Amino acid sequence: MTPANALDLLLIDDEEEIFRPSQPPRGSAGVYNPNSALFNLGMALLRWAVVPPKLAVPLLSAQAKAAGLSVETVCRPTLPWQGPRLRRLLARRPLAAAVTTVAIFDPVFLARITSEIRRLSPGTVIILGGHGAAASAEIRAQGDLWITGHGERRLAEVVLELKKGVPLPQVPGVTAVPGGGLSAAGSLRYEGIPRVLPPDWSAASTLARSYPVEASRGCRFNCAFCDFPGRGCQAFRPAADVAAELAAVRRERGVKKFEFVDSSLTSDPAFVRQLCAEMRAAGLRVKWKCFARPDAFARDAGLAREMAAAGCTEIFMGIESIHDGLLAAMRRGMDRAAVELGLARAFEAGISVHGNFIIGFPGETEATALETAAFVRARPFHSAYFCTFGASREMLDLAAREPARYLNLAGTPVKGWRCDGLDYRGAYGLTLKAVAAVNAGRSKPLAVSPRTNDPDCPPF
Ligand code: SF4
Repeated sequence: MTPANALDLLLIDDEEEIFRPSQPPRGSAGVYNPNSALFNLGMALLRWAVVPPKLAVPLLSAQAKAAGLSVETVCRPTLPWQGPRLRRLLARRPLAAAVTTVAIFDPVFLARITSEIRRLSPGTVIILGGHGAAASAEIRAQGDLWITGHGERRLAEVVLELKKGVPLPQVPGVTAVPGGGLSAAGSLRYEGIPRVLPPDWSAASTLARSYPVEASRGCRFNCAFCDFPGRGCQAFRPAADVAAELAAVRRERGVKKFEFVDSSLTSDPAFVRQLCAEMRAAGLRVKWKCFARPDAFARDAGLAREMAAAGCTEIFMGIESIHDGLLAAMRRGMDRAAVELGLARAFEAGISVHGNFIIGFPGETEATALETAAFVRARPFHSAYFCTFGASREMLDLAAREPARYLNLAGTPVKGWRCDGLDYRGAYGLTLKAVAAVNAGRSKPLAVSPRTNDPDCPPF
């Protein structure tokens, strides 16, 4: 007989602290500060209040509940006021605990959660998913099972089998990983998911008033430097479903701001126009932001205006370069003329544009980096990231096949690369010069070099 308070699945979401104590071990991400505990508590409170909840756990929760599983969630269990909830839920001896590592890359941080699970509920199967698990064998080793990609369908299937008493290694789809451990394949897009369900926002605990929304998975483009697993093909949800989800969150949770998480929401302008029409038809008065590329607005003259009229106030614009030679080598599928035209239309529509640029791709020189800086200074960007080029495994393999095109790029991912005339440290130096050139004479910096650019900051 199943006890009344039996729990099939405990979902856990957390994110690393921003500040670390001084003298951390190499491999530990963060900004190091001896007063870390105090700073972290303050930052946690601030982020709790203003940062949108992550989408992963509400999506996992929706599919697991639809499969008939009993599900509970704890968000940020390492925060002082959430720890007791984790311990109460572990006292119910959940069959499985699934931890999303979307924002956890430090094995030491993750161990604070997994060791608590092992201590209080040793029979619970620990399942890991998300970017941290994908990136680190040390992180994967803390779980009993690693689910790759989007895991909502696979997770529900695995826990249903565990509930039937099937031992984990014999669950269909679970395979041994060379070198140890078990894994199961999730979805790259929506394959195998019979019905895409709206996120179960009862699973999120946050004071934030801006929520994420997903209209598609994958990416229709295939940029040379990108290691996004779903690139090359993008699957969209029906626009009417997305608009209905926005309306429901607006109605039920009073949320008026949304952040589309799609790699490029505008890759199919017809979809975005349909979405805007559905939002208008539903009488939705909300503000939203999204990721986009300038070529979409160059191809479709009225798209930016249409989006602005439907509530789009901000775009994170993946520009990456303004130089035709670099754009071609990056396989961006656009040239400088398209970048300029697309940006001009977004600015004209009154949308606040954050620009993202890559500095140091093979072929970059001090002259091209400073020309990029001048380009940014001359336009009304709200802000800009200058990211030092990091070479993915795929990029290095591509360069090995086309050495002349990529100036003999070779080495190790992500920062251990070199090519003719440049290596990572040199590219980082160009990044800092470009940032300084943009910000010269400004009281408030416009361009930023993200801290992960630092050669001494992971990922290495
Ligand atoms: S558009 Fe963005 S997500 Fe898509 S392949 Fe290019 S860099 Fe990757």
